[in-house]
Amino acid sequence: MFIKRVFYPDHYICTYFQKMEKVINRQECKKLLDSVRKQNYSIGFVPTMGALHEGHLELISKSLKNSDFTISSIFVNPTQFNNRSDYENYPRNINDDLKKLEDIHCHCVFVPKKEQIYSGNGRSSYDLGNLDRNMEGAHRPGHFQGVAMVVDRLFEIIQPDMAFFGEKDFQQLQIIKHLVKTLGYDIQIVSCPIIREDDGLAMSSRNQRLSEKQRQVAPVIYESLKLAHQLAGKKTVDDVKQMVKNKVNQTQLLHVEYFEIVDENSLEEITTWKSSIKIRACIAVNTGDIRLIDNVKISS
Ligand code: AMP
Repeated sequence: MFIKRVFYPDHYICTYFQKMEKVINRQECKKLLDSVRKQNYSIGFVPTMGALHEGHLELISKSLKNSDFTISSIFVNPTQFNNRSDYENYPRNINDDLKKLEDIHCHCVFVPKKEQIYSGNGRSSYDLGNLDRNMEGAHRPGHFQGVAMVVDRLFEIIQPDMAFFGEKDFQQLQIIKHLVKTLGYDIQIVSCPIIREDDGLAMSSRNQRLSEKQRQVAPVIYESLKLAHQLAGKKTVDDVKQMVKNKVNQTQLLHVEYFEIVDENSLEEITTWKSSIKIRACIAVNTGDIRLIDNVKISS
């Protein structure tokens, strides 16, 4: 592989004249990245579970702009699924994904098999700083331990300078920031805003599984979050929660699993509006066997 640093309008990027590298083996991946590091290139990493959409590609663009060499990974991580059928039905479109990554000029993609991640010794239990006690953590037992395990192993293999995560999975983002500190990784975690469809639905790989009717009503999720934003400070926290739940549940097809209004840092639920903290409203909704999550910043 021939890497070259090229000056673009306002930043340097790494480019090369062969197609994107695809690696499936951890040793091969480490070797490639060692050669990148030897040339003093910074490494940006974007972990994904594939079925890539504009939300993922935005993270990759950000990495391409902010680091010299960008590696993404595609791995549907079994340990973070607490529901077997959700794991089995998770969309998998590897050929489309590789094409999208090539088109955006991602430098490398790591597509490991399970054994490449989970063979050998490694930590399997993590201090999550109690950030997993509510929302996704409470409704998907074991989910964040599984996320922590795969992210730890990917970080150990890739040792990036920067890693890019979406605010779409807000609780995950906060837990990963905590993990990096407690595990002593020297990695800058960069967060990226939620990318939405034109009608407001947060992009998600799971959207592919929505029926036409489910897809039609799904934008109500974001509409209800915008309502929470509008009413914050004007109605009580409890009233806002109730109004959001009613608005979503009225659609018949969508059922709120939880709607919580939390302190962005501690993820603790708030009971009254406070101007001294950053507040976020987070929702999980079920429609048939599909689960959608979303969130909005209420105050910063
Ligand atoms: P996933 O493939 O769902 O595990 O997501 C991989 C990364 O993409 C995570 O950091 C997600 O938060 C991020 N992501 C997924 N959907 C979006 C979106 N709509 N906007 C921004 N980031 C996203």
